[in-house]
Amino acid sequence: MELKITCIPGDGIGPEIVAEAKKALDAVAEKYGHHMQYTDILMGGASIDVHGVPLTDEAVETARSADAVLMGSIGGDTTTSPWYKLAPNLRPEAGLLAIRKALNLFANLRPAVLYEELAGACPLKTEISEKGFDMLIMRELTGGLYFGERKTTEENGIRKAVDTLTYDENEIRRIAIKGFDIARKRKKKVTSVDKANVLDSSRLWRAVVEEVAKDYPDVILEHMLVDNCAMQLVKDPAQFDVILTENMFGDILSDEASMVTGSIGMLASASLNDTKFGLYEPSHGSAPDIAGKDLANPIATILSASMMLRYSFDLDKEADAIDGAVKQVLKDGYRTGDIMSDGCEKVGCKKMGDLIVERIK
Ligand code: NAD
Repeated sequence: MELKITCIPGDGIGPEIVAEAKKALDAVAEKYGHHMQYTDILMGGASIDVHGVPLTDEAVETARSADAVLMGSIGGDTTTSPWYKLAPNLRPEAGLLAIRKALNLFANLRPAVLYEELAGACPLKTEISEKGFDMLIMRELTGGLYFGERKTTEENGIRKAVDTLTYDENEIRRIAIKGFDIARKRKKKVTSVDKANVLDSSRLWRAVVEEVAKDYPDVILEHMLVDNCAMQLVKDPAQFDVILTENMFGDILSDEASMVTGSIGMLASASLNDTKFGLYEPSHGSAPDIAGKDLANPIATILSASMMLRYSFDLDKEADAIDGAVKQVLKDGYRTGDIMSDGCEKVGCKKMGDLIVERIK
């Protein structure tokens, strides 16, 4: 198969971790007879330095013409980098918001997996962490409270602010379909999270999710109120497979789920549109404090590349080969500095990439 991939190395550790993800993809391509065609584009600070803007129209068009986008991370040290003296719409992060909008990426996927070998990093009690967990949070990314009308007024010396939370049924349906499709590739369970005891938008959310569920009789659907979900994530995270939720609830719950894994350098993510197209990137930032020192953990980016194979190309066997190699490398006792523990061997970014490639082969 011919896989046309646009890469955004970005800033900070971005170029280092994307290089390792490409090595893993090349190893998979060689083993399973595929051909990867990569084109790099600039985004974030790297684009500001060359073009004066964090994303050019040409870069968007290159991304659009590919089958999928693999990204490292963008941004610099927000207190010292000159990029943060620019107007907000010219700063590195504006490039990310612009590409998500231009490519209509409305569904954000963040897996939170607790690997047996890294259970010590999990801040939960041993009797909870020893069960492990493997969940995926699917968050609506382009609607809800963050995009609704807002205003701040002042009347008789009293300041008042209003934000509005709006969803129409089409916005809910398209993300619910994505959630159920992805649950079919996993443990076939969807937990739809809302606040239907209070919010009209949540009652519509729940009704539309139930309509969509009728087309997926093989997938179990349960509803959970968001406050209960926040508790369940620390009490019994093993119960979850796919958590499907709106923008703000997903923002908060996905950060909570990441924290309970305890390992930011291990967390992949994806943003999808209504075709097979997606942008795949680690959940962490550009880590300017360790950039260029061969200290970054490339695993989150390598696992993002695996998600790309699974969700944009339906290459499940190839994705399993990457996921299996990552598990094996942890089992064999190799760690980057961020996940180091006693008795393990500390390796750099490049070496970690090489060890994973060896295990893919
Ligand atoms: P960060 O995630 O970059 O770093 C937080 C801490 O985690 C740092 O100590 C860093 O060294 C460590 N870390 C992160 N990724 C690591 C990895 N792969 N291996 C080892 N250690 C790792 O968050 P921050 O410091 O708040 O932000 C730095 C820059 O990244 C900012 O400019 C921010 O805006 C940007 N950012 C970008 C994205 C993105 O590109 N999607 C996301 C978040 C933050």
